[in-house]
Amino acid sequence: MRDRHALLRGAAETLPGDTPRLDAELLLAHVLGEERLAVLASREAVSETDAVRFERLLARRRTHEPVAHILGEREFWSLPFRVNRDVLVPRPDSETLVAEALAHFRGRPPERVLDLGTGSGALLLAVLSEWPEARGLGIDLSEAALAVARDNAARLELADRATFRAGDWVEGVEGRFDLILCNPPYIEAGAELMPDVALFEPASALFGGVDGLDPYRLLFPRMAGLLAPGGVAIFEFGVGQEVALGALAAEAGLASRLANDLSGRPRAILLRDGMH
Ligand code: GLN
Repeated sequence: MRDRHALLRGAAETLPGDTPRLDAELLLAHVLGEERLAVLASREAVSETDAVRFERLLARRRTHEPVAHILGEREFWSLPFRVNRDVLVPRPDSETLVAEALAHFRGRPPERVLDLGTGSGALLLAVLSEWPEARGLGIDLSEAALAVARDNAARLELADRATFRAGDWVEGVEGRFDLILCNPPYIEAGAELMPDVALFEPASALFGGVDGLDPYRLLFPRMAGLLAPGGVAIFEFGVGQEVALGALAAEAGLASRLANDLSGRPRAILLRDGMH
């Protein structure tokens, strides 16, 4: 038998990244089938079998495999999402889009939502969980990602209101939407990423061309034709891209406004049809 607190202390010293202690706690909680805080509150010893299982997970984390992949799950907007290597792990920064959408539609929920490059389905399913009458369409180029999104919709009991379809952005998308969400790949080609991201997350969800702006160049001019009257499109972007995106929005005849993430940096741009 092993002392759990000693195990955690030893483990944290061997892990890479910014949050080794938290990662060790999450992995031990997974092995023990307990909540993280319950693990910390208890003094119960850990069996040799569980200590070996824990060490196996630590070894994976030492190769920079993200904790979300090891657990198979990541929380977003307080909902559990299944994730694997076929999708981007949902980031807290992206909750900015959900919060802005809720603020925009306060008191008059949207009916139709479109999520471009839906990945795990996190953005679409998070907003559908907030608006029981809303229906949504999630598009992704990757069939493997769509399988993850459909699984998440089923687990969250939102499958009856969420449709997922393979497609190249807005190609073949018909009708108009009250809310359009998009977290496109926006990292500049060749940029160096943390090994956790570079080795384990899909490049197709990360890189957006030479300056990272290719998806916006393609999509902004299509927004006016897809937004319903009073509708809004909300795009995530990377640090420092806001000036270029403001210009692209103006070129496309769209009115725009920026929104900050939790660390106070511009992270999302809200677009409306400038003619309405
Ligand atoms: N925010 C992600 C990262 O920094 C990038 C996500 C994206 O390109 N949409 O790894």
